[in-house]
Amino acid sequence: MAPSPLTTSNKPHAVCIPFPGTGHINPLLKLAKVLYNKGFHITFVHTEFNYNRILESQGPDSLKGLPDFIFETIPDCLCRSNGAVITVATLCDSIDKNCSVPFRNLINRLNNNCNVPPVSCIVADGVMSFTLDVAQEFCIPEVLFWTTSACGFMGYLQVPQLIRDDLLPIKDLSCVTNGYLETTIDWVPGIEDIRLKDIPSFFLRTTDRNDIMVNYNVKQVEQAPKASAIVLNTFDELEKDVINTIQSKLPPIYTIGFLHLLVNKISDSGLDSIESNLLKEDLDCLKWLDSKKENTVLYVNFGSTTVMTPQHMMEFAWGLANSKQTFFWIIRPDLVSGDSAILPPEFIIETKERSLFASWCPQEQVLNHPSIGGFLTHSGWNSTIESISSGVPMICWPFCGEQQMNCTYSCRHWGIGMEIDNNVKREEVESLVRELMEGKKGKEMKMKAIEWKQKAKEAVAPGGSSYQNLDKLIKEILL
Ligand code: UDP
Repeated sequence: MAPSPLTTSNKPHAVCIPFPGTGHINPLLKLAKVLYNKGFHITFVHTEFNYNRILESQGPDSLKGLPDFIFETIPDCLCRSNGAVITVATLCDSIDKNCSVPFRNLINRLNNNCNVPPVSCIVADGVMSFTLDVAQEFCIPEVLFWTTSACGFMGYLQVPQLIRDDLLPIKDLSCVTNGYLETTIDWVPGIEDIRLKDIPSFFLRTTDRNDIMVNYNVKQVEQAPKASAIVLNTFDELEKDVINTIQSKLPPIYTIGFLHLLVNKISDSGLDSIESNLLKEDLDCLKWLDSKKENTVLYVNFGSTTVMTPQHMMEFAWGLANSKQTFFWIIRPDLVSGDSAILPPEFIIETKERSLFASWCPQEQVLNHPSIGGFLTHSGWNSTIESISSGVPMICWPFCGEQQMNCTYSCRHWGIGMEIDNNVKREEVESLVRELMEGKKGKEMKMKAIEWKQKAKEAVAPGGSSYQNLDKLIKEILL
C-alpha cells in the first residue's frame, strides 16, 4: 500500500532553536530547511532581540515563513536602546537567566494549537542545552546541533579534565604570552599534537573559574551526554579520527555536513525566501568581482563577532597595501574596538585601484566566485567550511571560541591554511598574502583545497556519508 501523503496535521514537527548569533543561526536554519524538505513541519525560534534586528535589516517578508515553516520568538530581555554593547557573554548570561520558561511555554502553546501538528522533536544548538529539560518534560527526543568542527567540539570536551588537572583556569594572564599555552596535551585519543592554545579561547582569557563564559560553556559540555543525539556540520573523511573518538563517549553522533551543500541541492524555490540575516548584504560587490580575473582577489572577512584593536587593523591594512594584491575587505561597523573603523586616507589612495570595501556580503556567493583566490579569515567554522567547499585556501587569524583549533587543523592536517601570529604585524601579512596568492605554497594549498572540495561534494551526494547519516538521523532519532 502506498504511504499516505503528509498533510500538516500528520507531519512530524521539529522545533529548532539556535544560539542567537550569526554563526549559529545560519547553519541551524539550513538544517531546518533540510528537515522541511524531508517532510517536517518546522517552528524556528528566534530570540526577540534578533527577531527585531532581522525585521529591521531585511524587512517583514524575510520572516513570513511558509505554511509549514513558521517563525516564533521567545523573550531574552535584551534591548539595544540602553546603548550597551551586546557581547557574547551578555548573550549567554541573558539566555541562562531568561529563556528556559518562555521556551517551555512556547512548546506548550504549540501543542495546544490545533493548526499545527504536535511537537515531535527539538533540534537545539549545542550551547542552548537548557532546552533538554523541556524535551524531557514533554517526552520527546532532542538533538543537539554543535555548530563547531568535530575537532573544536573535542576541544570543548577536554575542558572538565583540564580543570580537574589544574591546567585551567590559567593562573595569570601572562600565560598568554609566556609560552605556557604551547604546553602539549598528549592524552586525547584521536587528536595528535594539540596544545593548550588549541583549547577554546573562552577558557584561556580569564583566571576566574566563575567567569560567565567559562561557566556557560562548562555547563553545555556537561549537558551534551543527555541529548538523544548530537549533530555536527562536518563530514567523516575530513575529521575521521576525532569523530571516531567522540562516537565512543557520547550519544550517537551524526555528521551531516556540509549543510550548505545539502541545502543548495533542494529545488523548492519557496525556501529561498527564508533567510535570517542580522545584517544587510551588499550585493554590488558581485559585479565588482565579475570584473576581476580568475583567482586574483583576496577576500578578507573576520566574521560576525571578531573585534580587533585599531593597531591590528592598521597592521592588516598596511600588510594588504604592501602585498600589492587585489582585495575585497568586509569591515563591519563594530569590527574595531573603541572608535569606529577608520582607515587612513593614504591607505585608501594607495589601494584605490585594487580594493573594495563593504560592511557585509553574501559570503557563500563571494567564496564561490571564480575571481577569489584566497581568504584571510578568523577561522570561524562556517567560514572554514564555506571556504573548503569553494576550494579556496586560507590565511588564518583565529580570534575566539574554537577558532584556534579550526586554524590548527586547516594548517597542519588539511594543508589548506597558513596561520598569522595573534600579535599580527604588517610584514607577516604582506608575505603570507603574497605567498597565498602567488607563491608555491599557495598553489599547493589551492590544489589541496580543491581535493577537499571534491570530497565534500561526494559526502552530500546520494550514497555519500553525510547523505546517509542524515537519513539515519531522521529514521533513528527524529521520527
Ligand atoms: N557571513 C556572511 N557575510 C559576511 C560575513 C559572514 O554571510 O560578510 C556569514 C558566513 O557566510 C558564515 C557566518 O556569517 O556563514 C559566519 O560564521 P562563522 O562561523 O564563520 O563565524 P562567526 O561569525 O560565528 O564568528
